[in-house]
Amino acid sequence: MTIGDCRVDFPITRDLIYLDSAATSLTPKPVVQAMVEYDLRYRANVGRGMHRLAAVATHRYRDARDAIRSFIGGEVGTLAVARNTTEAIGAVAAGLPWQRGDRVVTTMLEHHSNLLPWLRLRERGVAVDIIRPDAAGNLDLADLEAAVRDDTRLVAVTHASNVLGTVLPVGEIAGICRDRGARLLVDGAQSVPHLPVDVAAMGCDYFCFSGHKMLGPTGTGGLWMLGSDLEPLFVGGGAVESVTDGGYTLAPGEQRYEAGTPPIAGTIGLARAAAYLRDIGMDTVRRHEERLCARLIDGLAVLDGVTVAGPDADTERIGVVSFTVEGMHPHEVAQILDEAAAVLVRSGHHCCQPLMEHLGLPEGTVRASTYIYTTKEEIDTLIATVEEISRRMI
Ligand code: PMP
Repeated sequence: MTIGDCRVDFPITRDLIYLDSAATSLTPKPVVQAMVEYDLRYRANVGRGMHRLAAVATHRYRDARDAIRSFIGGEVGTLAVARNTTEAIGAVAAGLPWQRGDRVVTTMLEHHSNLLPWLRLRERGVAVDIIRPDAAGNLDLADLEAAVRDDTRLVAVTHASNVLGTVLPVGEIAGICRDRGARLLVDGAQSVPHLPVDVAAMGCDYFCFSGHKMLGPTGTGGLWMLGSDLEPLFVGGGAVESVTDGGYTLAPGEQRYEAGTPPIAGTIGLARAAAYLRDIGMDTVRRHEERLCARLIDGLAVLDGVTVAGPDADTERIGVVSFTVEGMHPHEVAQILDEAAAVLVRSGHHCCQPLMEHLGLPEGTVRASTYIYTTKEEIDTLIATVEEISRRMI
């Protein structure tokens, strides 16, 4: 499949210009069909029954989980199915054996989901160091390196910023963590959908991502772990090997992290989404979005009264561009884009309030984000409409 062929699989793109994929992507027909097939043809619970449907469902569910793990290069570790990135990060925060005096290092580029779990640990005597980027949003690796000390238990960073689109050098950060004996958690919510990801080569310990941003269904995602030494967030049916009235033995591997009935159709749908992306090729996805992103930044940057947030255009980015229009609230711009040109973008603080304050943008930004179904004509419509808005023509 080529990237140009895929658009027919996304019926929503016929009626409007969807530039909000960083919030949630659209989902293609084969993903929906894979889920419908489970519900209509072999629906049963997994890992429990002996009957024929249970066997098929269990087999397909486990295959799906393996395929998702392999999509992120995680063969060496464990992939537990999670509802989303937020849940996966929360499972790490709750599952590590924290002690008073431990330190966590994170950055001001983080989504609230990779910040609040660490801030909450302060109540338990854990210190949290937050590395600030410069005024343009560039992170200085030397600042991070200086902050990682012998008592730093965990470094938690995003792979790609959901506001500025910038990609962090997580491989180098992994090297720093290894040298200091700290573990590394990478928030991959914005990277897995847009870049080739190989968690083993990256060298992280925990990698968290969401299915709904990578063509998959909502309510799905994953927590990949190099080891399986986290204390599970929940225990119960499906997560144990044996139980007596005196206690229980947890099941090995990912099973111990999946207490209760998992999102079966969702996981099968997510594996189909990964296969769909693999058919196109993640290098192709990345190049397509790089071209769109460059066009978007170039087109917006020359408009009077429009400011593109973040580092220079040649900084490595995914297809996420934040901008402001002088004298207008971002929500107002987003509303006009929808009403006047059926262009759907996100506006506001994008769940990154500390970053917005730091960048001097307390009202937030307008954010346009692309994906495989986005065309250059759509980007041009956005630019032309923003120009009219900035000139108060509409
Ligand atoms: N981290 C980043 C970088 C994100 O962009 C998002 C979603 N906007 C999240 C975490 C949280 O994802 P979810 O809502 O799927 O848990």
